[in-house]
Amino acid sequence: MCIFCKIINNEIPSARIYEDDKVVAFLDLSQVTKGHTLVVPKQHSANILECDPETAAHLMNVGAMLGKRICERLNAKGMNILLNTNEVAGQSVFHTHMHLIPRYSEDDAVKIEFNESATQNLDELKDLLK
Ligand code: AMP
Ligand code: ZN
Repeated sequence: MCIFCKIINNEIPSARIYEDDKVVAFLDLSQVTKGHTLVVPKQHSANILECDPETAAHLMNVGAMLGKRICERLNAKGMNILLNTNEVAGQSVFHTHMHLIPRYSEDDAVKIEFNESATQNLDELKDLLK
C-alpha cells in the first residue's frame, strides 16, 4: 500500500485539515511555506492523468475552497497550486495529490521558472497538436 493510502487509512499519522467521502487534505511534512497542504483523493490513482474525471473535478473544487480558506487564515498573498505528474515533473509520491503552497513573498522558498525552450513560431504552434 502506498504512503498516502496509509495516511488515508490512519495507519500513518497526519495533520489533517479536511475530509469528506472522496478526498482528504493534510499538511505537507516538508512545509515549503507555512500552511503547505496536500489534497488527496481517497481512491488510489498514480497521478491526475490517471484519476477518474469525477474525482479529479471534486479534488479541484475542494482544493479551491481550501486554498481560499488557507490564504485567509494565514494571510498569504497568493498560492501555487500544483499537480506534479510523473518523476520528470517532480512527482515523488505516486498517489494523486494537489499541492496548495501559500505564497507570502516572491523571494520565499518556492522557485518556479518558465523558460522558453521550444518553438514560438505561430505556424508551427498551430500545427503542433492538430
Ligand atoms: P510530490 O513531489 O509532488 O510527489 O510531493 C510529495 C509530497 O509529499 C512532498 O512534498 C512530501 O514532503 C510529502 N510527504 C511525503 N510523505 C509525507 C507524509 N508522511 N506526510 C505529509 N507529507 C508527506
Ligand atoms: Zn495510494
